[in-house]
Amino acid sequence: MLDLKNCKVRWDRDNYVPKKVYGFETAPRKGKPQEIAEAFLRENLQVLKITAPMEDLRFEQVTESLGGKAVLFQQHYDDTPIHGAWVAIHLNNENRIFMVMNDTVPAVSLEKRVGKRAKAALAEGEIDLVIAAKIKEYGTLATEIVKERMIYTMKGSFRPVWKVKFGTQQPAGSWILFIDQANGHVIDERNVLRKALGKGRVFIPNPVVALNRDDLLDQKDGDQTVFVPAYRTVQLKDLEPGGNLKGPYVDTTKTRNCASSETFEFVYSRADERFEEVMAYYHIDSVQRYIQSLGFKDAKGILNRQIRVNVHGTREDNSYYDPSPGRHDITFGDGGVDDAEDAEVIIHEYGHAIQDAIIPGYGQKTEGRAMGEGFGDYLAGTSYYRYKTAARKVKLAAKAARRQEVGHRDPGEPLLSQPVRRFQGRRRGDHHGRKEPLRRQADQGVDQDLQDEGDPGVACG
Ligand SMILES: [Zn+2]
Repeated sequence: MLDLKNCKVRWDRDNYVPKKVYGFETAPRKGKPQEIAEAFLRENLQVLKITAPMEDLRFEQVTESLGGKAVLFQQHYDDTPIHGAWVAIHLNNENRIFMVMNDTVPAVSLEKRVGKRAKAALAEGEIDLVIAAKIKEYGTLATEIVKERMIYTMKGSFRPVWKVKFGTQQPAGSWILFIDQANGHVIDERNVLRKALGKGRVFIPNPVVALNRDDLLDQKDGDQTVFVPAYRTVQLKDLEPGGNLKGPYVDTTKTRNCASSETFEFVYSRADERFEEVMAYYHIDSVQRYIQSLGFKDAKGILNRQIRVNVHGTREDNSYYDPSPGRHDITFGDGGVDDAEDAEVIIHEYGHAIQDAIIPGYGQKTEGRAMGEGFGDYLAGTSYYRYKTAARKVKLAAKAARRQEVGHRDPGEPLLSQPVRRFQGRRRGDHHGRKEPLRRQADQGVDQDLQDEGDPGVACG
């Protein structure tokens, strides 16, 4: 028998039951893991203060790991499994038991609290209506519906529930619901869809900053050896099954001939049209996760939902967020350099989407519009600030002063090699304007769009 005085123990403070016992090792035993664990449990039920009878602790499975095995038993009451009530017996590779995890609930509380509730159950037909409404809310049913009775524990109380599982498509989901048998309330709902971790290749935020060079040329979207050191391999998080660049915050499948990979590998060069999809997925997803890390998540989230993106939606040198009802999506243009090859352009447009999500319709007139431009540039500028050399972190005031000095130049001129030219990157009607040179938003900092103020003739994303 186990002597708790010679073990390490973590106690459940409410019930004074050992929840985790470790720091011991039994003698090795012969037999199957299940048999060894059952014999051990029977011997030690009292020591472990487990009040459930042995026949209610039903063997569920053995899980293997490098260091050994864990044998799992699920507690039942009245032939019904109790959610979250488990005993796990851990064996090492010599069949010595070295740890017990005990999450059982006291048998007394079960008898007191479950019996009465079970009588008040709704008819199954009514539960089916609740399930149907939930499916409608989530998408389209794509699998059969599996129902089982369970006892759900909640803050020390026990409720007989239906545990319901099904899958949906559009969007893809794998759902588990816990529905109170007495009143049909959905107590708990989870999407347990296993999302894939993909691999992608991107610029952070663009070659001008990554290579710290202002002399790069587009060469008709061509791949050149000069770009090689600018590529970064990144993780693409939570991709839905199906092999597209589609996840909780971004969906690029609006793009013609969109990227698809069974292995979730999206490694392309800039010459490949799919490269911009990877850029959009990675950068929007990263910025949204950063926003959530600040506390703006769940009910307090800001655009913490999927946004659709078309990375090659127009041949013009322009990109935009479309706030129209039913759209709320982003389009990037391919005029000049592909816009979605630059994370600062991507995040600028995402900034517009964020503002529209906070205050629908915000920024329709000149002042608000200028603020929208400023916010997009601020979001983009600060997101990639740390990737820039000190020389590129030009202060707002300094830039404004220099702009005063040089005034506006002929926008048709090439933008190379003269630092002051960076301020005239845009032409009228051309929000992220630039022709061949890669210098553009990249090093322009937050003041870029202040020029828009009082200039409603400038088209903007
Ligand atoms: Zn804009």
